[in-house]
Amino acid sequence: MDGRFAPSPTGRLHLGNLRTALLAWLFARSAGSRFVLRMEDLDAAVSRPEHEATQLADLAALGLDWDGPVVHQSARGELYADAIARLEALGLTYPCFCTRREIQAAASAPHGPQPDGAYPGTCRTLTASARRRREREGRRPALRLRADGAVVTVVDRQLGPYTATVDDVVLRRNDGTVAYNLAVVVDDAAQSIAEVVRGDDLLPSTPRQVHLARLLGHAVPAHAHVPMVLAPDGTRLAKRHGAVTLGDREAMGETAAEVRHALACSLGLAARTEAPVPVAELVARFDPERLPREPWVLTAADCASP
Ligand code: GLU
Repeated sequence: MDGRFAPSPTGRLHLGNLRTALLAWLFARSAGSRFVLRMEDLDAAVSRPEHEATQLADLAALGLDWDGPVVHQSARGELYADAIARLEALGLTYPCFCTRREIQAAASAPHGPQPDGAYPGTCRTLTASARRRREREGRRPALRLRADGAVVTVVDRQLGPYTATVDDVVLRRNDGTVAYNLAVVVDDAAQSIAEVVRGDDLLPSTPRQVHLARLLGHAVPAHAHVPMVLAPDGTRLAKRHGAVTLGDREAMGETAAEVRHALACSLGLAARTEAPVPVAELVARFDPERLPREPWVLTAADCASP
């Protein structure tokens, strides 16, 4: 069950990211599997080598290791282009000229088509002349998948069955950048990932990715979506919530082993009353069946600086 952790190098990892990384590593290592790292750095405007370096250093400081070199999405354009060409050859794509505002307006119209920001399909049936007119207006199209209303059920290892209608997801943005959902599917297949472990905020994207994997003829990986870490106010954890990165905690005098121990305690793998448990012992104790299913909501004291 080869596993992976796939952060975007856009800043320092916070406790939520670190906990997900620890879990992804534990799932893989407790099964005796390979574990690889992938930098999801397609967004050149916000991805930085110095963030990557700090992220790798933080993971290593926690005691996590990985197999082989770190893979970079920014270096894999040809693989993505091949996948897009195959979908195009199958007649499963179309150009979409909609602006974000047009999509929002369509989605909020009375009897608007679909929930969750799903694309309403405006450009799916454009005639050739309507396409040409938009091109003449200087609009650059994104490329979308023709999903044909596919309904996909994912059986998540932690959360059970999850069913959704796949929308016409973007494959390539109108600035030419390959979209996350396409890249992740191509990469997980190319890296032989058998089990995707990641935050449960990504569960709604999983049916899209499973559908894409099937269309491209790839083996569909298993999925384990794990609960997020939330700030004291119940929102998704972010830097502004206080001392939430390893660097912050170290500046307060905590060691990386103590931070790992706090994560392990939040996962029911260790007790506050014992000394920090080595990673090998965490692997031995790890049991996916017994992981918490609820988010870890930090208290103000958890993320306070002195
Ligand atoms: N790069 C994504 C993130 O930073 C994770 C993608 C994935 O695990 O599939 O949240």
